[in-house]
Amino acid sequence: MRIALDGPSGAGKSTVAKALAKRLGIIYVDTGALYRTIGLYVRNKGFARTDIANIIACLDEIKLGMEFIDGKQIITLNGKEIGDEIRTGEIAMYASAVSAVPEVRKFLLETQRKIALENSVVMDGRDIGTVIIPDAEVKIFMTASAEARAERRFLELKAKGEDCTYEGVLADIIERDKNDSTRKAAPCVPAQDAIHFDNSGLTVDQSVEKVIEIIESKKR
Ligand code: C5P
Repeated sequence: MRIALDGPSGAGKSTVAKALAKRLGIIYVDTGALYRTIGLYVRNKGFARTDIANIIACLDEIKLGMEFIDGKQIITLNGKEIGDEIRTGEIAMYASAVSAVPEVRKFLLETQRKIALENSVVMDGRDIGTVIIPDAEVKIFMTASAEARAERRFLELKAKGEDCTYEGVLADIIERDKNDSTRKAAPCVPAQDAIHFDNSGLTVDQSVEKVIEIIESKKR
């Protein structure tokens, strides 16, 4: 069983996917973490987000690893395990910028496809149903209003001690939405056969139940 869970930033995909993976006893794959890791590398090299030539050139220096230990996704960058340093607002913006570069998407394609080929997965991202697993058994495009998503992300970042404002987070979400949905390479758009699910105003538990319902209806 492969479940492709796509949608814009902050729609709650990762929270729902994690709970879902636990319920179904399958692997949760967070593909955004791969783009964030490339974004981190580019930032640490001191390159601008717009410096496409250097972004492409530095891919040759990167060896990415992704494995699952007790269901937990471990990403390594040149042999070093990557942790929460990719979970900042700044790195999210780098991730969004590098993800628009076709060479970066190509660089990460096989890693994602291999995992989906060898395992039952719920994989969250932007192009899982359209590019990575076009033959996934279940495809869901999960959204919520920009304001609902900004509020969730703001509370999340605040809880981690990041210095941010709701307005700043909302502006970043709107910018990332625009980048992600209008880029030429694998834009964040629903697959033709994806089921649309807007979870504005729903709790995590309600969203998980709804997704389970969608999966059950697909099985019938
Ligand atoms: O999901 P997350 O917010 O961690 O993703 C960070 C960025 O990586 C997104 O804004 C998006 O630009 C990019 N991304 C992507 N394709 C994916 C997953 C993430 O382009 N499959």
